[in-house]
Amino acid sequence: MKINMIIKCRVCNTKNSKFYYSTNSLPEYIWPTKKIKISKSSCKVFICKKCGHIQLQNFTYKKITKFYGSQSFVINNSYKMDIRRKKIIKLFENKFFEKKGIEIGGGVNPFAKNFNKNYYIVDTRFEQNIKKKFKKNALSMKFENFKGKNFDYAILLHTLEHIKNPSQIVKKINKILSPEGRVIVEVPNFFYDIKFKPYYSIFHQHLSMFSLDTLKNVFFINGFKLQKIFTSKENIFICFKKTKKKILIKNCYNKNKIALEYLKNKMHKINGFLKNKFHKNKFILQGAGGSSSLIIHNFSLFLNKIEFALDKDPKKSNLYIPGTNIKIFNKKSNKEIKIINLVKYFKSII
Ligand SMILES: [Zn+2]
Repeated sequence: MKINMIIKCRVCNTKNSKFYYSTNSLPEYIWPTKKIKISKSSCKVFICKKCGHIQLQNFTYKKITKFYGSQSFVINNSYKMDIRRKKIIKLFENKFFEKKGIEIGGGVNPFAKNFNKNYYIVDTRFEQNIKKKFKKNALSMKFENFKGKNFDYAILLHTLEHIKNPSQIVKKINKILSPEGRVIVEVPNFFYDIKFKPYYSIFHQHLSMFSLDTLKNVFFINGFKLQKIFTSKENIFICFKKTKKKILIKNCYNKNKIALEYLKNKMHKINGFLKNKFHKNKFILQGAGGSSSLIIHNFSLFLNKIEFALDKDPKKSNLYIPGTNIKIFNKKSNKEIKIINLVKYFKSII
């Protein structure tokens, strides 16, 4: 594939996003799968000279849909969701449930626990039970086609980084909100990922890699101001409010370029370290989720070092780690010395 060296930036919308580097060939679908053969390609990372936004190459909508397959292995972490709920309800001075709200991309694990006539969910994929629970308020469609107005708030939890045109979506959110409307958004923090899970910082599903500054930029450009930062560690969880004032964006090009360089060097260093550690014996892999899959493909020396994988989730049984012939068995690990949990191992070396 010929790489277009300069593409349009998905945050500031100017043609200033420059090709920076390519990852290893990665599976386009990262969760356990029935097929041994699966599309693999490298992620091309671009950085915008005008605003510093980091994004992947352009994909067609059809291609993006394929990154998700039909099964979902999203962990339903209700504890984390409860913490978010408490913070947001407090933000609205406990009047949250009287307000009219919309969640964009909540078809699998929505923010609201129960049906409420003021709460809508727009997503292209819905789990059956969610569709059933939220009835007519569960709208299967692209948000681009949604028609509605005067919403008091919009919620996007781990959605914006998956969207092809985040700036267009934020602009549309501005249009459907009331003058005092707010947006509550959470995305992974790229600066955290490159430090603590570099192998999970770039993969096909994340079309944009946000930092606190570039996330602010996409909202500032589209008529929002900052209201509250709940957290900006592993994830950036933040609330913006609609404004008529024009807020200037920050050019994060230099800062973000240094971050990409750091990531590139880190991956290179880890690869060198692993080559010395894993030169002969084969082992059994413990844990067959998206993280393991990305570790194996980013550090391809693992591809022919693993005999098979074990995972405690029965849904993964008899499937394969995508793009490999490593089969998964549903067994608890015993204390055999040959078993390695790569995710835990990486925590200890990073
Ligand atoms: Zn830009």
